[in-house]
Amino acid sequence: MRTKTLKKNTINVVTLGCSKNVYDSEVLMGQLQANGKNVVHQQEGNIVVINTCGFINNAKEESVNTILEYVQKKEDGLVDKVFVTGCLSERYKPDLVKEIPNVDAYFGTTELPALLKVLGANYKHELIGERLTTTPKNYAYLKIAEGCDRPCSFCAIPIMRGKHKSTPIEALIIEAEKLAAKGVKEIILIAQDLTYYGLDLYKKRNLAQLLQELVKVEGIEWIRLHYAFPTGFPMDVLDVMKAEPKICNYIDIPLQHISDTILKSMRRGTTKEKTTLLLQTFREKVPQICIRTTLIVGYPGETENDFQILKQWVKDMRFERLGCFTYSHEENTHAYSLKDNVPESIKLERANQIMEIQSQISWELNQQKIGKEFLVLIDRKEGNYYVGRTEFDSPDVDNEVLIDATKTYLKTGEFIKVIITEAEDFDLYAKVID
Ligand code: SF4
Repeated sequence: MRTKTLKKNTINVVTLGCSKNVYDSEVLMGQLQANGKNVVHQQEGNIVVINTCGFINNAKEESVNTILEYVQKKEDGLVDKVFVTGCLSERYKPDLVKEIPNVDAYFGTTELPALLKVLGANYKHELIGERLTTTPKNYAYLKIAEGCDRPCSFCAIPIMRGKHKSTPIEALIIEAEKLAAKGVKEIILIAQDLTYYGLDLYKKRNLAQLLQELVKVEGIEWIRLHYAFPTGFPMDVLDVMKAEPKICNYIDIPLQHISDTILKSMRRGTTKEKTTLLLQTFREKVPQICIRTTLIVGYPGETENDFQILKQWVKDMRFERLGCFTYSHEENTHAYSLKDNVPESIKLERANQIMEIQSQISWELNQQKIGKEFLVLIDRKEGNYYVGRTEFDSPDVDNEVLIDATKTYLKTGEFIKVIITEAEDFDLYAKVID
């Protein structure tokens, strides 16, 4: 049946989930483009590829609903083909094939060549580092490794992404150079566990050496670190961060919890004392450092006392950036054998309490920035404001700096010096310093 859509033979890639999925979609799109295919991202096309997320319940629900939405469009003759890839497909393929049979084909997270084949394209090995970036042109993600060897009890990622596999430094440098050539100023290093980098390939934690090579790439001005892990943290990374102005004084390190009982059950391999000491060392070695973390509340067996320990610690540590999730009971994870005994309402209440504390802390920390000068990278214009970020802010998750666009003219992707004039809990207002 011929579709009614106007855009013929256009492949629309739809990305759900995390920055690693964004990266994988960009690689897929780069391969398709190199095969002469007309490919778009989250737009209209008669062939749809949905890159799904299978991490936690909410994300899984969103992925299933998106698949159903496009299957409906296919039945309505608005699209010709629907293909599904990514983590949900990797994790639940047999169930999905049974429950949503009207998808043309399902692919796992390591089946790019097979997916390309059904799209009439061939996998091109020579395209190392070539991808069609979907982020604003001034920043891009750089995935330095895939998979994870950690045993965290609540996490399904190793099931979907396999064992940790580092990408060689040489290939990452080529990729960074190609990004710089396209005008990218900021690269955001991502992996499941950034600090594990190199252990498989170089038999040692090699993130610091990678950073020392990346700072040599001309055109790249900011390098940001996401998804560090507390246990076995390579301290030489802090020395490079301190010494190299291109490395943002910023680290994202999901810590998940702090009560020793819960950390033990989560199999995080650390304790409250060790984690607190690690963060104190971050702040001693890199005084300016901005620490982002992520916490889980409502984990099986989390008592009111465990929660009070976590709450007090969040107050004491005063993280610059913090996100909080409610525990999701995931099949085939180690924690699935535990009783999911914290009621959903309590989980939500605890997450709200943590974020209320964090909003207050963020507001107080932002007040201290008023009258101070910062270098800001302009990401976009929105209404009457230019929107940018300091080196202490990662895209989509952290503070934004708003500059009145009726008073000045700025270009997206440029660095400008500003002075902070006003501050809210998660946004800053600034004016340009001439
Ligand atoms: S380090 Fe992260 S990705 Fe790896 S198992 Fe733990 S939570 Fe999951």
